[in-house]
Amino acid sequence: MNVLHIASEVAPFSKTGGLGDVLAALPRALAQQGASRVTVVSARYGSIHPQQHGLAKRLKKLSVSVGAQTFEVGLYEGRLPGPGPLVTVYLIEHPLFSERPGVYGPPDNPGEGYADNPLRFALLSQAAICLAKELVPRPDVIHAHDWQAGLAVYYAQQAEWDTPPATVFTVHNLMFQGLFPLSDAQGLGVRPELLTPDGIEFYGQASFIKAGLQLADRLTTVSPRYAQEICTPEFGYGLDGVMQARRGRLTGILNGVDYDRWSPWLDGALPVRFSRPPAELEALSEDAFAAELVGKARCKAELQRELSLPVRPKTPLLVSISRLTEQKGIDLLIQWLEAELHSRSEFQFALLGQGQPALEQRLRMLAERHPTRVAIRLTFDEALAHRMEAGGDFFVMPSRFEPCGLNQIYSMRYGTIPIVRSVGGLFDTVVDFDARSRSGTGFTFQPFETAALGNAIRRALAAYHSDEPSMLALQKRAMRADFGWATSARAYLNVYRQAQSGK
Ligand code: ADP
Repeated sequence: MNVLHIASEVAPFSKTGGLGDVLAALPRALAQQGASRVTVVSARYGSIHPQQHGLAKRLKKLSVSVGAQTFEVGLYEGRLPGPGPLVTVYLIEHPLFSERPGVYGPPDNPGEGYADNPLRFALLSQAAICLAKELVPRPDVIHAHDWQAGLAVYYAQQAEWDTPPATVFTVHNLMFQGLFPLSDAQGLGVRPELLTPDGIEFYGQASFIKAGLQLADRLTTVSPRYAQEICTPEFGYGLDGVMQARRGRLTGILNGVDYDRWSPWLDGALPVRFSRPPAELEALSEDAFAAELVGKARCKAELQRELSLPVRPKTPLLVSISRLTEQKGIDLLIQWLEAELHSRSEFQFALLGQGQPALEQRLRMLAERHPTRVAIRLTFDEALAHRMEAGGDFFVMPSRFEPCGLNQIYSMRYGTIPIVRSVGGLFDTVVDFDARSRSGTGFTFQPFETAALGNAIRRALAAYHSDEPSMLALQKRAMRADFGWATSARAYLNVYRQAQSGK
């Protein structure tokens, strides 16, 4: 199986969110699970310095037609770093990418988006298809990701092939759809008959994501639950009808986690490493397992010190690491904190995140009012994120919606018990604690309400204070949960086979 991925981000070359991480890991996992060749095509943004990444410039240029325009684009060639089989990365070189400081928009306001983004990502998509036609051997499957690569599915179907490749399209977050004026799409070579509601039109605009959703042989999204949810009006962002119609072709596959970076016994960002691989934890007695967590207690004390909170080993420490947006339910968490901090219940809360100014302001005020109980860091700090995963007792993630979510998975490996709203990938990865049956890996709640969140947190704090053996057993179950990429890569290989046989 020869697979070519097309995406607007691939770490470590470019990353603004989870998409970049997936493109760094999934292709390697596919190669390890038996794909004969895996290639990634993305863009050489201004922030990518070719020498730093060992990228070589190809002498030959590609001539790429987008609508009536023709672009001469260059190509950088490199490889995804990491062990295992070779994954080749091609980065398309053109001033539309290289002469911009940001990936999607100006760095000080990325949400705004560059005005010519339709052309930029149409060019990326078409250049990737032109390259695919030149590669020997040709790809069997073209796998396009998110709206930026939506038109790649269309261009792949318009291109002439001896044997056309199968196409797979993955939705990482349905909220971001790539909506632009219909006239833009026409200029990009989209046939007029496709600019209808049965095609890629969406309420008077052209929808790039709809191109991927309507035209690909198979669709995937990043968790089984989110696959169900996006077929409903509540989570479908107006595309639930399209998702419903193509439901039989849609598969939810959980994102994996890079445990080389997120394991407490390997983690160089921690003041002290602790624990060991899950298989070795299983056989440990309660005492021996408790001894594995001595390092975690040190991490907690160091974290409290770092955040200028009183160093109290027995006070439960709730942590959160999050973009501060609607999606993440931070407003709900703030509401709960505002009410609860006036009560006598004993806990500390620490948050690392950046985002909407209004949320940042409310969090800042909470920390000012309750300096011994609340610590807020409004920056992006990867190393601190690791120390918080390690030093917290509980990780709170009350998302409105969550396609997959990674932090709840990281936290489990560090014995930091997730408290999550049971939606999307959170539903699929966190099992609610049940003391009687001694099962579960975290605490979950359903209605998006302060009382429901509060109830989940109360149950978590009660478990923390009341029953040490049961809490230890809960931590052990969470730390043994495995969400590596191997299982997910095998599921993608299955989808590729289905896409091929469905043609
Ligand atoms: P999303 O991709 O929706 O933002 P995820 O939970 O899937 O949410 O992944 C978020 C990733 O970004 C995690 O690796 C998390 O640790 C990291 N992250 C988010 N905000 C920050 C921050 N302020 N500092 C450091 N890392 C952050």
